[in-house]
Amino acid sequence: MGIEEAKKEIAKCARCGKCRSVCPVFLETGDETRVARGRISLAEAIFQGEIFYTPELKDYIYSCKKCMRCQAICPSDVDFSEIIDALLEGIEKNMGTPLIARFILRYLLPRRNLFDFALRIASIGQKFLPGERRGSLRHLPLFFMGKRWVPSLATETALNKYRHTKKLKKPKLRVGFFVGCMTNYVYPNIADSLVNVLNRLDIEVVVPSQQVCCGIPAKSLGDMTAARKLAERNREVFEAENLDAIVSGCGTCTLTIKRDYLKMLGESWRPMHDKIYDINVFLEKFTKYETEPLDATVTYHDPCHLRWGQDIVKEPRNVIKRCATFKEMESPEDCCGGGGIFSLIYRDLSMKIGEHKIRAVEKSGAEKVVTSCPGCVLQLSDLAALKNLPVETIHVVELLERTLKENGMEGAAVSEEAEVGS
Ligand code: SF4
Ligand code: SF4
Repeated sequence: MGIEEAKKEIAKCARCGKCRSVCPVFLETGDETRVARGRISLAEAIFQGEIFYTPELKDYIYSCKKCMRCQAICPSDVDFSEIIDALLEGIEKNMGTPLIARFILRYLLPRRNLFDFALRIASIGQKFLPGERRGSLRHLPLFFMGKRWVPSLATETALNKYRHTKKLKKPKLRVGFFVGCMTNYVYPNIADSLVNVLNRLDIEVVVPSQQVCCGIPAKSLGDMTAARKLAERNREVFEAENLDAIVSGCGTCTLTIKRDYLKMLGESWRPMHDKIYDINVFLEKFTKYETEPLDATVTYHDPCHLRWGQDIVKEPRNVIKRCATFKEMESPEDCCGGGGIFSLIYRDLSMKIGEHKIRAVEKSGAEKVVTSCPGCVLQLSDLAALKNLPVETIHVVELLERTLKENGMEGAAVSEEAEVGS
């Protein structure tokens, strides 16, 4: 991570333009400064001191979804993430971040209890903000950045609910659950399903209550100091547990704690890195269960950070096929337009990208759209609601939980409870 690594990647680019054929932002805007090739030319000019960081340039860089689709297709094997990360860091160093964002990223996020308290205050405050749609409220910590509307914050967070581990009598494995902010604060029901599924399959789930944000919002704003601080905190928390594996139900969190932490924390993270699994991969690798599929037709949307970031394609589909009738939608690999800070700042562009996706969902005729990232669940639910499309958007683990329940799989015996984390 840094300018020297970025320069090496810039040198590999043959300027062939193949990235233009897949970049969701370029396909909507047709703007060369908003695709990998154009941004690489800008990066080269910046690193050679020919141009400088300006608000206009910041806009070209921030409008990258960091979906990694361009690098999956690139014939020259350019690691575009290195380049975009160096540019974001350059923006932060040269132009700074708003003070409130810096305070949240560097001071509140690494302190779990304090951040929870701040969010509780925020969730009370958000009740007094005007709502555009019933059931949707402004996401206060980032409300100053855009017009994005998301479901209200959960009354009880997943980390609070699972601070006591359900001890199984004879667990096959003991795994740590990296929850992620979206699941913790907005969709704790996804955490419920993940924990229930694993418990039903005789796997003990430890949810360290002091784990913090994976660091992706900090990284997306170029604040590597904040991102490293969060990585260090998560290292402390997870290394303190005796775990066979660590699982996550968020494609972005898994990619961050696996790939980015190795870059940020170095080889000392390797033993933990090797234990980290996306939940679908974990289920396929370590569990066996026979189920009668539900009477439902479902389709699947590939989260970018699972498909392009980790090449996880068949595992979620294998899980789904054991749960329901599976119908592949057209171009399931196309981005839904969601994605953290991008969808907050570029709401209209995010919705335009998502328009193609929701049409594909509709055309599939499926009654449920399943995905494996809470950010995609949010975006797809939002798109379906705006279009009045009667499809249910759920996470893979929610579908699997319903299937196991329907099949009468009650899971392992649960004994006493013990607190984890401190
Ligand atoms: S596809 Fe790769 S080599 Fe070709 S222009 Fe894009 S980044 Fe450069
Ligand atoms: S990461 Fe995604 S949005 Fe950014 S340039 Fe590559 S394809 Fe386009």
